[in-house]
Amino acid sequence: MSTYVEEIMAYVQEKNPGEPEFHQAVEEVAQSVVLVMDRYPEYRAAKIFERMIEPERVILFRVPWMDDHQEIHINRGYRIEMNSAIGPYKGGLRFHPSVNLGILKFLAFEQVYKNSLTSLPMGGGKGGSDFDPKGKSKNEVMRFCQSFMDELFRHIGPDTDVPAGDIGVGGREIGFMFGQYKRLRNEFTGVLTGKGLNWGGSLIRPEATGFGAVYFAAEMLATRNESLEGKVCLVSGSGNVAQFTVEKILDLGGKAVTLSDSSGYIYDETGIDRDKLDYVKLLKNAQRGRIAEYADKYKEAVYTPIDPAMDHNPLWNHKASCAFPSATQNEINARDARNLLDNGVYVVSEGANMPTEKPGVKLFLEHGVLYGPGKAANAGGVAVSGLEMTQNSMRLPWTRDEVDHRLQMIMKNIHKTCRDVAEKFGTPGNYVNGANIGGFLKVADAMLDQGLV
Ligand code: NDP
Repeated sequence: MSTYVEEIMAYVQEKNPGEPEFHQAVEEVAQSVVLVMDRYPEYRAAKIFERMIEPERVILFRVPWMDDHQEIHINRGYRIEMNSAIGPYKGGLRFHPSVNLGILKFLAFEQVYKNSLTSLPMGGGKGGSDFDPKGKSKNEVMRFCQSFMDELFRHIGPDTDVPAGDIGVGGREIGFMFGQYKRLRNEFTGVLTGKGLNWGGSLIRPEATGFGAVYFAAEMLATRNESLEGKVCLVSGSGNVAQFTVEKILDLGGKAVTLSDSSGYIYDETGIDRDKLDYVKLLKNAQRGRIAEYADKYKEAVYTPIDPAMDHNPLWNHKASCAFPSATQNEINARDARNLLDNGVYVVSEGANMPTEKPGVKLFLEHGVLYGPGKAANAGGVAVSGLEMTQNSMRLPWTRDEVDHRLQMIMKNIHKTCRDVAEKFGTPGNYVNGANIGGFLKVADAMLDQGLV
């Protein structure tokens, strides 16, 4: 590790104790950004990176709500407003029991570079709560969302901070929060993205992250004159990102054979076809069931429970060419990465944020895997959120084809930026450096232009 990165990490660890995911995300970017510092010392003198790792603002609040049995619960709400150098804060809200300050800071930090890569004018933020929507009734989720917005509304706005969905926050939750914001402010504005189609949402927004991750994989494959046609793909998760990843794999002629949730995974050697995918959408989005039920319905599939205490995730131990981790952070450790390599995987396109632990990333890079890190490969979601903001400002919705075309162009450009920047900084084919440095430069220059901010 270079002295610069060591100094940064000592500082980050001292100032942010007990936040391992945030340390991990900062270290990964610092290891790329050091190449910029060596070549352009003005960024170092201006302490741009030291400024970037300190959020502009952290909002932490109480979210009290009452369940269906009149029992009171208190959750914690957060919004991290990380960086607004190139636009209003933008980034999702996550509702999951694992949510804490460190996890949201890592996500907000990643978001800054990701949003910059899209070339749209969006700063970076992230928020959420340790509330667990699993097992809650619709009314309980609504009351929680309303209480959450009772505080958040005073900190956000269409030109200030525009949240979206993430784990545990889909169209239903965005609807409840939008409704409450509108009541409190008496304004109909584009304050959230991922809205319903008949009240300001954009076509292709639900699909965008998964579609984008597959477009990114297709771009990486094209550098070797290959395509997804006929390729076997491992996909984790079974939520928003995973579902539309499978859909686009099918569109491009590939075959997805796995899906998971936090209890276990299914392996369907015959492939998850369109009918089966429709069933998964119904199961997960309407019935809010478990992926185990897939194997009850389709006897050709095998369900395996996943114990988080295991030293590896068996989902990553099947013969395939491509992997699309689409569940959560750190779901691929060194052993999983080794299993992927041994099973022939040579394309990894990350739908989830930071799903691969550091030793896994190192293995992928050492073995020449076409490895698209989350901040590049899953930027399609926030990109279409940016397009939703544009349509809201214009009060003019675009067609499905128009949004999809723009999404494809954005993913193509992100891919090109990553490759060009990696090449320019002497690490050709390294999408990690390409994404980190490409994202960094635009934000850093804006910060320099704006004085000591
Ligand atoms: P969803 O809530 O729709 O789905 C999440 C899926 O991942 C579920 O199948 C869930 O299973 C599983 N999962 C969540 N936490 C864990 C865990 N700790 N261990 C194992 N499985 C887990 O979320 P999304 O699909 O929206 O998000 C998935 C990933 O993609 C996240 O990393 C998110 O940050 C990232 N992302 C999402 C974007 C979007 O537009 N939605 C944009 C960019 C990135 P279970 O139901 O059991 O919890």
